[in-house]
Amino acid sequence: MILLKTAADLRRHLLQLASTGDSIGFVPTMGALHNGHLSLIEASKKANAVTVCSIFVNPTQFNDPKDFEKYPVTIENDIVLLEKAGTDILFLPSVNEIYPNGTSHLPAYPLGYLETILEGKYRPGHFQGVCQVMDRLLTMVDADQLYMGQKDYQQCMVVQQLINYRQFKVKLLPCPTLRETDGLAMSSRNQRLNATERQQAVAVSQALTMVKNEIAAGDPAPLLQKAEQMLRDNGFKVDYVAIGSAADLSTVTHWDGQQPLVTLAAAYLNEVRLIDNMLIP
Ligand code: AMP
Repeated sequence: MILLKTAADLRRHLLQLASTGDSIGFVPTMGALHNGHLSLIEASKKANAVTVCSIFVNPTQFNDPKDFEKYPVTIENDIVLLEKAGTDILFLPSVNEIYPNGTSHLPAYPLGYLETILEGKYRPGHFQGVCQVMDRLLTMVDADQLYMGQKDYQQCMVVQQLINYRQFKVKLLPCPTLRETDGLAMSSRNQRLNATERQQAVAVSQALTMVKNEIAAGDPAPLLQKAEQMLRDNGFKVDYVAIGSAADLSTVTHWDGQQPLVTLAAAYLNEVRLIDNMLIP
């Protein structure tokens, strides 16, 4: 694995590869890697000659400064895991490399409805930050295929919107959520849970599984209230439990029993905010 820290070095390497016509797969991350991240590397390796992974904890997407401060950093372990997984290039830029003119006058992106609901509503500015960093990274990496997790369902939609808006040639491939054996979605933030919280945390996937299993045609609101209560009973402070159209996340107030849906949740266990979602059916 080659470790590169500057966009200029990355470009030099990728230009050499481009001349051979090799396809490039890209997996952007914020580090503190787990098997969910590694499943994206594996998907990229299967379909591309070269796999680039980036690790960059993007300051502009943290609406809560405490969350940024406490975001886990395990770079040495990450390097070992990426090397073992057969990653070709690790791009490890500094904040200055990504934002050479600072972070105060970055462009704003037209995200419309997506920015006003769910994560957009509860984390103001978060998706603008995601677009700012992804715009920079996609320009620098110039990949053919981009691998991102369905775990961040709304983020995948936002990034697809960015790709359309900026007319990047890259193809976004959303990948399934990897889970611990008890069902908890793997997440870097799980490292911040203590032993008791870790046991409580499984309630998120249990509540979503309950919604998925019990949903019937009609108004899903009572089921969502039941799921919220399950989370509260397990010590969570709930931001939302919601159901939306799987295609565009628009609200569903009366399900016809057929339309593909996604059920999503975000909730705090003390200081740690967890999110998850499941497709229906
Ligand atoms: P992050 O480092 O949290 O920004 O995540 C980097 C990428 O890994 C994003 O595309 C995430 O959606 C994806 N990811 C995070 N958790 C999982 C998981 N449990 N399974 C699959 N992909 C994941």
